[in-house]
Amino acid sequence: MRRTVLIIAPFIVILSAWAAASRADVFSAALQSLFNVLPYVFALFALSLSIGYQNGNSFFLSCFILFSYVFFIALSKTPEKLSDAVTLISILFPVNAIWLGFSRERGIFSYYGRNKALILFGQVLWIVIRVFANSAGISSQTDNMGIIRIKAPAMALYVVSIFILLLNYILQKRYMNLVFMVVLLASFIALHFANRVIILSIFTTAMFTIVVIALLDISYSLAFYDALTGVLSRRAFEQEILKHENNYAIAMVDLDHFKHINDKYGHDVGDEVLKMVASTLKENAGGAKIFRYGGEEFIVLFAGMSYNDIRVHLDNMRKAVEKRTFFVGDKSPSVKKSVNDNLKSRSSETIKVTVSIGAARKTGNLKNIYDVIKKADEALYKSKNNGRNCITMT
Ligand code: GH3
Ligand code: MG
Ligand code: MG
Repeated sequence: MRRTVLIIAPFIVILSAWAAASRADVFSAALQSLFNVLPYVFALFALSLSIGYQNGNSFFLSCFILFSYVFFIALSKTPEKLSDAVTLISILFPVNAIWLGFSRERGIFSYYGRNKALILFGQVLWIVIRVFANSAGISSQTDNMGIIRIKAPAMALYVVSIFILLLNYILQKRYMNLVFMVVLLASFIALHFANRVIILSIFTTAMFTIVVIALLDISYSLAFYDALTGVLSRRAFEQEILKHENNYAIAMVDLDHFKHINDKYGHDVGDEVLKMVASTLKENAGGAKIFRYGGEEFIVLFAGMSYNDIRVHLDNMRKAVEKRTFFVGDKSPSVKKSVNDNLKSRSSETIKVTVSIGAARKTGNLKNIYDVIKKADEALYKSKNNGRNCITMT
């Protein structure tokens, strides 16, 4: 549900911008002046959130959007120069979206951040110099409606970049790729109307809004999702339990002899095993919510489910983990002592892991969630004592 909203949101922003732009001619003076300040307000949001989360890629993309906007506004009285600026920016925008969209996130005030800033500064300097130098021949033409025509090479760059970002989003599920793709779409429209300040302002506001949505999603994920395993975090659990009074059950799931895996293969292999177990639990939870409670311990929260259904789902989860095999592969630098070693480990080293589970339902004699957790923990302890890889339900 949340994912669907996130995917749709940037498109809704663009459609809203389109709807607003199509009525721009009948905007009152007050509304027009509002739209002239909105890009700066949203730029401030986007830039400060980027700094807050040290997200260099959205920071530098926002800087480029802001520069383009300010530059177009500054040139609005000189159409010739404005057209030159459109030509140059229409080439650099898709290039930057691809570059920043694929660049590894390495902060703003870091060595890598400084390099990105230098590249961007170089571009800005190049654009300004070319526009103010005598650069006849690069101007984009306008059609009889006054809409700026983007040149063919820039068009091609846009199409290719949008396609690459979309493809990478589909393959890698990186939300930032989708965000950058939609920002590109918005910039494509904005460039056509760079000579109409109000439409330019609307679409620039839209671009910053889309970046802000992506950054808010990052902040939400940081708070409510476990960074290693991708399941919900302990903080999410603390919030979730406030919603439930009765008719729920808690299961504590703990990996068996996990310390042994860490000792034998290294902590990074342990991390990969933990991720695999988390995703296996999630796939077999029958819609129940999975939280990482700490270390190698997960909590499954069943709301409004019968005793039998809970038992079936827990059994599915336990069996699914038992069945899965983890291949010690190239994701584990600690076991990669040499190429040969790695090949050997890839072909022969496999890890099997099991989980023990203790579950408790909220009943009349358990006062609150903490009592339920305690009961589930005691049940887990019993499963461990009963030889592990089993379920104890109370
Ligand atoms: P038992 O079957 O009794 O649960 O044995 P165990 O070895 O799983 O339990 P123990 O509590 O002795 O050890 C848990 C280990 O989990 C110790 C700790 O290093 C490891 N661990 C906790 N969090 C992480 C993590 O995020 N990554 C990795 N790789 N290991 C972790
Ligand atoms: Mg354990
Ligand atoms: Mg434990």
